[in-house]
Amino acid sequence: MDASADKILVTAALPYANGPLHVGHLAGAYIPADVYVRYQRLKGSDVLFVCGSDEHGVPITIRADSENVTPKEIVDRYHALMKKGFQGIGVGFDNYSRTSLPLHHKIAQDFFLKLNAKGFINEQSVQKYFCATCGRFLPDRYIEGECPHCHRQGARGDQCESCGRWLEPEQLIAPKCKICNSVPELRTTRHWYFRLSQFQKQLEQWQASKPDWKSNVREFCSGWFKEGLKDRSITRDIDWGIPVPLPEAEGKVLYVWFDAPIGYISSSVEWAENQGDSNRWQDYWFNPRARLVHFIGKDNIVFHAIVWPATLMAHGGFILPAQIPANEFLNIEGEKISTSRNWAIWLHEYLEVFPPDPLRYYIEINAPENKDADFTWKDFQTRNNSELADILGNLVNRSLSFAEKHFEAKVPPAGNLSEADRSVLTTINEAVTRIGAALEEFQTKRAVGELMDLARFGNKYFNDSAPWSSIKSDRVRCASTLNTTLQLLASLAVLMDPFLPFSAEKLWRMLNAPGSHRDRRWYNLSSLRLPDHHPLGKREILFEKIEDEVIAAQIEKLHSRPLSL
Ligand SMILES: [Zn+2]
Ligand SMILES: [Zn+2]
Repeated sequence: MDASADKILVTAALPYANGPLHVGHLAGAYIPADVYVRYQRLKGSDVLFVCGSDEHGVPITIRADSENVTPKEIVDRYHALMKKGFQGIGVGFDNYSRTSLPLHHKIAQDFFLKLNAKGFINEQSVQKYFCATCGRFLPDRYIEGECPHCHRQGARGDQCESCGRWLEPEQLIAPKCKICNSVPELRTTRHWYFRLSQFQKQLEQWQASKPDWKSNVREFCSGWFKEGLKDRSITRDIDWGIPVPLPEAEGKVLYVWFDAPIGYISSSVEWAENQGDSNRWQDYWFNPRARLVHFIGKDNIVFHAIVWPATLMAHGGFILPAQIPANEFLNIEGEKISTSRNWAIWLHEYLEVFPPDPLRYYIEINAPENKDADFTWKDFQTRNNSELADILGNLVNRSLSFAEKHFEAKVPPAGNLSEADRSVLTTINEAVTRIGAALEEFQTKRAVGELMDLARFGNKYFNDSAPWSSIKSDRVRCASTLNTTLQLLASLAVLMDPFLPFSAEKLWRMLNAPGSHRDRRWYNLSSLRLPDHHPLGKREILFEKIEDEVIAAQIEKLHSRPLSL
């Protein structure tokens, strides 16, 4: 790696290991993050891309309780499933860790101790809900009731799913124990609080220097600043999690939202150890010239844009987030995704039926960047059939089959280039710049739209040049058209990689191009030329069309799902 290359540390929200991944997760954080990382790598940036399973917290223990198994069984099951799912959809983390590792426990405990030693944590005696029937305290989602803001029933002790507001269990109206439905009572207990209020001014000043952040993130934060930041409890009375490293806190664990973001650091440390260079993570985390980018869904903004940066400020030494591109939600067939109602399209089930790239494309072109977006199976089919297959796939297929038929499956030498031929090269360069500019601004949707426009342009060029006609009248002209189209395909293979990595690789192979398309450089594509007489590879169908019956079966399946949790 070039020592002067831009260093970028990219994270995607740690998914809770209490259920499988669904398309909403992918659209919120993972696909945009992967697109960005693949683009940066093609640009020559030095990127570290880390993630891992979030294996602590009440969502895990509630799932374990409901299945009557241990939390360990739950996290082992879903960690394996999620890891496999990310591989299947082509999200290429450098390291996918898990927060139950001893390495992470140690790092999170050290974090706590450092903040405590610096006076940023204080112990308080507080009243918390306790269920006398269950004989236990009821933190977070162990308690449900009426939302004090929107008055919907079934709001959870940490957040109301209806209005999205963050809650404390004590704010709920008519609270009930999630396990046994009893009315809980308040009892005195001790907890440790992070002095978030002390960081308000520093956070506001820091965010004022981030005018390029998305408006959803900035507006969310200014709402919190206006209300005034309050100190936050970072310990819980449950037995699954990271023990609070103080003798007087026996039986208590760290709050999952305290330890989870530290998981980005421990995943980086684990990566460095696996590289055989255990300090290498510091090249990113302690390097003021490195950019830290957190990809998240909008439900995680408070933790990544307020609590986590304050934690890092309190600790000292680490870089702060440079960007937090938070996406809105992806709904399904007009309704909000609900894992409890099993209204979701699960990644592992999708991959049993379809190849990965059509889903990546649909999520990219339909990305919930500035407002919620809707996944419909019909629209998915249309995007696949009339864009991937009819535009991009068609351009590849028609030009390769023409070269097979008339030029012995080789790249024919070009004669004098016409103005139209030269415009292809100009258009490639413009697309390179435009797609790159969109991705620098985290606009995946605009970027993939530009890619598809380049393929549209290629089809128009091919049509207007009418090689089927010039092959009879002017073979040299025809050869120039084909040569130019094949050069366009080679560039497309590279430009497709962030969005459609599996198809990019397949196209590169079909062109029989040397090495890997991933060794090419984004801003140096004009030097990419298939030589004269270069033998092409075996032609395949790049994107299969999806039949109506297949889509009808998916819609049927979605509507007939049994309820899960
Ligand atoms: Zn509400
Ligand atoms: Zn109870």
